[in-house]
Amino acid sequence: MPAVKRLEAFLFRLDPGASVRMAFGGFSERKAVVLRLEDAEGAVGWGEVWCNFPRYGAENKLRLIETLVGPALLAGADASPAAAFHRLSAALHPMALQTGEIGPVAACIAGIDLALWDLAARRAGKPLADFLFGADAPASVPAYASGLNPDGAPERVAALREAGFSAFKLKVGFGADVDRPNVAAIAAALRAGERFMIDANQSWTLDQARVAVDAFNPASLAWIEEPLAVDRPTSEWAEVAALSAAPLAGGENLYGFAAFDRAIRLGHLRFIQPDVCKWGGITGNFAVARRALAEGRTYCPHWLAGGLGLLASAHVLAAVGGPGMLEYDSNPNPFRALLGSPLPDLIDGALPLPDGPGLGVEPDMAALASSLVERVELTAA
Ligand SMILES: [Mg+2]
Repeated sequence: MPAVKRLEAFLFRLDPGASVRMAFGGFSERKAVVLRLEDAEGAVGWGEVWCNFPRYGAENKLRLIETLVGPALLAGADASPAAAFHRLSAALHPMALQTGEIGPVAACIAGIDLALWDLAARRAGKPLADFLFGADAPASVPAYASGLNPDGAPERVAALREAGFSAFKLKVGFGADVDRPNVAAIAAALRAGERFMIDANQSWTLDQARVAVDAFNPASLAWIEEPLAVDRPTSEWAEVAALSAAPLAGGENLYGFAAFDRAIRLGHLRFIQPDVCKWGGITGNFAVARRALAEGRTYCPHWLAGGLGLLASAHVLAAVGGPGMLEYDSNPNPFRALLGSPLPDLIDGALPLPDGPGLGVEPDMAALASSLVERVELTAA
């Protein structure tokens, strides 16, 4: 592929006035780091970098792109997006380890990888899903309503059902007095064919997880996500998986092919959930997803940020196939449509994939202008 000649990185910030609550913390203000790459022949690709946490993680990642990851990209020539991913991952690994910035560096590389794949698919004139699949991929992917806060959760599920969703994921880990009434009320109101999942965001100890999964076993949950911290011993994950009537899900906090390979092989996770802009980009997520399906697991992309990452997740899911669902942030999230324009409307809880080449969407830079905090530009020598 032609060498990348220009990299632009944009930091956007806005406050939709609605907070998202996880067991470990939350946010109200939303930030986005967007990448625009241009190759020697003028072709363009767009990427997004995961930066929901911590509060100033977006600023850190913009600086890492400006001073470390961007220069490394522009210093080399790569035969393909995958080759660029592997070159950058290898070249920056010592620095990522030395600085302890393993996650931020991985997210910056993931964002670049996404932009390179978008660029390559645009050059080929094909939607990214078809470009990955090698033929016509499915035209839409089923989505589930995610990010349901504990406050007023049963009423929120009812509203989302009216909006067309038939699968819902509730945040738990706020204590039995909060979690149990929510789970019981939502489970009791489910209609035939609907699915209900919970996400503990790594908040339980083994003792707490034992009690929680036992309490939730009657709820017929479709999955329990991250009941334990991702780095707890295999024996603990095995015990919780055995105690839980619902299958377990996780992957948003795993880094690297080896970590996913191990998680898939061990089998405690039925649902494998890498985040396309947090680790791996299209290169890593497509490979992990195919491996997951080959081993009888289900690929369900993790995503709770802007429209570029959402469409990237949808394209990978369509290309990989299987019974997985697209994670769709049910909170007010202006970056979904602002970064992924024109954003397709959900139809009966499924996201139609755009017909256009690449991701089929791009940032609405005019509409984003008032949210721009900083822009960085790098050019190849
Ligand atoms: Mg989660």
